Amino acid sequence: MNIRKLFLFAFWTGCCLTSTLYAQERAKPKKGEGVSTFLQRFGYTSRAAQKEFLEINKGKLTRDGGLILGRSYRLPTGKKSGKKARAGSRKTSVVEPLFGPVYQNVSVRSHELDGACLYLVSGHGGPDPGAIGKVGNRELHEDEYAYDIILRLGRALMEKGAKVHIIIQDEKDGIRDDRYLSNSDRETCLGQTIPLDQIARLQQRCDAINRLTYKDKEKYKRAIFIHVDSRGRKDQVDVFFYHSPGSKLGKRLAENIHKTFERKYDKHQPNRGFRGTVSERSLYVLKKSNPAAAFLELGNLQNERDRKRLVIPSNRQALADWICQGIIKDFKGKQ
Ligand SMILES: [Zn+2]
Repeated sequence: MNIRKLFLFAFWTGCCLTSTLYAQERAKPKKGEGVSTFLQRFGYTSRAAQKEFLEINKGKLTRDGGLILGRSYRLPTGKKSGKKARAGSRKTSVVEPLFGPVYQNVSVRSHELDGACLYLVSGHGGPDPGAIGKVGNRELHEDEYAYDIILRLGRALMEKGAKVHIIIQDEKDGIRDDRYLSNSDRETCLGQTIPLDQIARLQQRCDAINRLTYKDKEKYKRAIFIHVDSRGRKDQVDVFFYHSPGSKLGKRLAENIHKTFERKYDKHQPNRGFRGTVSERSLYVLKKSNPAAAFLELGNLQNERDRKRLVIPSNRQALADWICQGIIKDFKGKQ
């Protein structure tokens, strides 16, 4: 192809392109059509589209804003339907009263976890306080600390666009920035009284999760159980990550959270010695709940060193954030 032919070719394609665009951009009204009915015919229903139309066709309408038959009008370039755009747009904020008045408004900052559904269960609750640590005359109850971390985790997950079910609930507590969390037996399992009998208590929360999983349409569904009663060793931070025997997805989830903890400990506390282990364990809640799950023991309230770590609210937040990052890692690698 010589230069002249090339030039002609370019000119020709340029013309075609322009004329196609030109044809798409303009249209003539039918008899009886006003601006909005005319625009509706081309799928433009938003106020913004109508505004744009009036601007780009200034001086082409009748004095009272009508269309002139036989005249061609330029069509808007913006979004066609305001309603559709709103329905398709993602949520930017959510309210979860369980987080308490200070934390209940959650802004969704990213959509990394769009399509993920999490069932969050704090250990014990109701008539069962779990492990009890003592500071002077004060009793620290495991269920209160596990619940605070679960709420912080739930909030972190929601900020990333996840759907979150908080299975054990206390309608009064919320996220608490206190060192010593007051004890109560108000906790319920999605509003139901928690029975004292251990098997009944565990079966109740599994039933609650399983009922929800039938309704939830997300492909990625995972349950997280949090306890604060592991066996601590001197000068070492022991965190146990359990999954159900034979559960590949549960194992992967536990490993992803474990890896995040290892990385964070290396970075923030290189000399502390983190001893986290992932293992399978035949726990009732892991066996009886449908979604793949990880069961975490984040420390021990009866161990002085762990207790010091867990009473600091920012530490509980850090634990929640790390678990959240582990879940993101797991969700991203799901295929
Ligand atoms: Zn426990």
